[in-house]
Amino acid sequence: MRIPLFCGWVRYALVALAAFVFASSAHAEKGKLQERLTPQVLASVYPAGAERLGPEEGSPPAIAVYKNGKIAAYIFSTLDVVAAPGYASTPFDIIGGIDVSGRLTGAKVIFHAEPHILHDPDREQELNTFLGRQAGRPLRGGSDPLPPDYVADSTVSARAMRTALLVSASLVLRPRISRAASNASAESSTLPPPGAGAFRAKSVAELLADGSLVKRRITSGDVASALRESGRSNAKLDWPLGKDDDLYIEFTTGLATPAEIGAHLLGLVTLEDDKSRLPPGTELIYVAANGPYNFFGTKYVQAAEGNRFDRLRIVQGGNTFTFRQDDYIYAVPVAGQELAGLFALRPNSGFDPAKPWRVEILVNGPGTPPVSIPFGVDYKVPDLRKIAATPAPPAATTTTEPLPGVTISEEDINLELPQPPPAWVEAWSASRANVALLVVLLSALTLIFAFQSRLARFRTAHRVVRNGFLAIVLVWLGWIAGAQLSIVHIITYLRAPFQHFDIGFYLAEPLIVILAAYAFVSVLLIGRGVFCGWLCPFGALQELLARASHALRIPQWNPRPALEQRLWMGKYIAAAVLLMLVLTGADPSGATLEIEPFKTAITAKFTRAWPYALYAGALLSIGLFSERAYCRFLCPLGGVLATLDRLHILNLLKRRPECGSPCRLCERACPVRAILPTGKIVTSECFQCLDCQVEYYDDKRCPPLARAAKLRTDVKPAVRNV
Ligand code: SF4
Ligand code: SF4
Repeated sequence: MRIPLFCGWVRYALVALAAFVFASSAHAEKGKLQERLTPQVLASVYPAGAERLGPEEGSPPAIAVYKNGKIAAYIFSTLDVVAAPGYASTPFDIIGGIDVSGRLTGAKVIFHAEPHILHDPDREQELNTFLGRQAGRPLRGGSDPLPPDYVADSTVSARAMRTALLVSASLVLRPRISRAASNASAESSTLPPPGAGAFRAKSVAELLADGSLVKRRITSGDVASALRESGRSNAKLDWPLGKDDDLYIEFTTGLATPAEIGAHLLGLVTLEDDKSRLPPGTELIYVAANGPYNFFGTKYVQAAEGNRFDRLRIVQGGNTFTFRQDDYIYAVPVAGQELAGLFALRPNSGFDPAKPWRVEILVNGPGTPPVSIPFGVDYKVPDLRKIAATPAPPAATTTTEPLPGVTISEEDINLELPQPPPAWVEAWSASRANVALLVVLLSALTLIFAFQSRLARFRTAHRVVRNGFLAIVLVWLGWIAGAQLSIVHIITYLRAPFQHFDIGFYLAEPLIVILAAYAFVSVLLIGRGVFCGWLCPFGALQELLARASHALRIPQWNPRPALEQRLWMGKYIAAAVLLMLVLTGADPSGATLEIEPFKTAITAKFTRAWPYALYAGALLSIGLFSERAYCRFLCPLGGVLATLDRLHILNLLKRRPECGSPCRLCERACPVRAILPTGKIVTSECFQCLDCQVEYYDDKRCPPLARAAKLRTDVKPAVRNV
């Protein structure tokens, strides 16, 4: 009889959660910006009205916007340029515009999976307003037109999106204006043109022929066969494969430090300028490429990824040399190349330019373990005396066509990436007052637990302290500060080390990180009840409503103990399924997480679409008849905490041999039925409300105490009479 009921419960839970999984499988796709740039999106990101649009091209990819026959701006997608994640680990997609003077023209969210914004029209609207107001902001020296906390309870997401927009705009604009400036410089140069006098710049073909440069071409077929050889034929790559003969990447490389090579690639002035900014003895490796696979990757612009170039390395003997953003110097791509750069090897790196080495491009892909296939080319510096047949060429040697309509200056070439302060620094600075209040609140709670046996001796004081504390947690912590710890945070914290580990990520939400740390320590010390009984705003809301329900004498219903214990499993199943989604890589940040009513009832204060409000209202209504029913039977966060509760080391709640048999006073007093008929407290179900302890210390109600008190009063007159 009981087994089918249990199976039925499991079945319903799994079906419901499977539906959530499918509902949350949306994701953004890179590439094909043109398809995502609908007329409505274009009107948002370039409201001045485009005369025509150019093709999607270049690296990073962008679409030129023409006005009066000239390029006026570029349109780009943050997903294509930096693929930055926000609070959810799925990268969001914002299409933005940057004009040629370096001002944003607009921005529009195309896709995101941010858990606190998803399915919430008001916050979606706030987010679009926040990003839309970035229009007109200069890349250099601009400040926030609206603060990130304008998007209520989603400050972390808003900050991440703003930063991605600025960084992407800068990455798109900088190589384009640098290229145009270089061409302009070449056109206006008073130095003799190549071949007019003593100078003759070698072409790339000549540099390849004399061994100054080496080159390797890799097709999609080459990558496919390397994948087959490594046993990962079906692996997903950062950039998808085309037909076997399609170019995947073609890269050219060489040592740029000697003027006999570097001056032909960069111009002597540029080469010397680049070298002067580095410690003496630094070697510069030139790498240029074309083809759809971008060897820069995106991690070098992500502080969370250590700003490293994850698709390029140099191997010499037993040493491997990798690069970070501050090792990179922009280089103007020469004819036939789309992307170029100089990569610095410092004097103490152990690199020896006189010995042979190998430059490797890594074809990467996500997965477990991640894919990383190296394609290398061997290089040895040629005899410089032999190749120095011609003197150094003038500074500007580029042969690329100038971009029409781009007005640039030397200052523009030095356009720096915007470096807003780390998000967590900004967040802690903005939350100073709330952090102080939370510290006071947690200190008070610590004192309550330190002196809980004294508090429990005074029924009225206990009731006042508990109700007052819950009211503060609900109103200030939940509704005002929006600090509702949720399974979303647990999942995000668990996934972060595998996706974009950065300590700043953990610190991005000050109140949540403090609460999470307190909950973690307290569950291991005392049990789940410290958080669930005292610090959860939704738990507080349920309990305060239950108080009203008791005052109104609404009849209460609770399942029989055996059924109750089976229903407890619900929260473990909910927690297990959600965590399983993390391990399988499915995205749990969408509809799945709506099993928690926290966003509706606490962070959004019921200002959401009616189905969400109805769901949260239904759970609260059930709680009027069965106290904290959601906490006991369904809450996945409660399930995680109840699992950790098994490890707790302190038992603060007192028991007597009479508890359970013959006395069941505490069992009846427990509002969440955490005391078994045997008198044993199931701490994973206990909310540390101390109601049972109030009975335990009441010498008028607790039978053993009352008997002892009576004995004392009977004995005293007898003694006096002796
Ligand atoms: S079980 Fe869930 S809703 Fe209840 S108090 Fe704990 S975390 Fe909050
Ligand atoms: S009455 Fe006692 S056992 Fe029940 S939840 Fe409160 S502290 Fe825990």
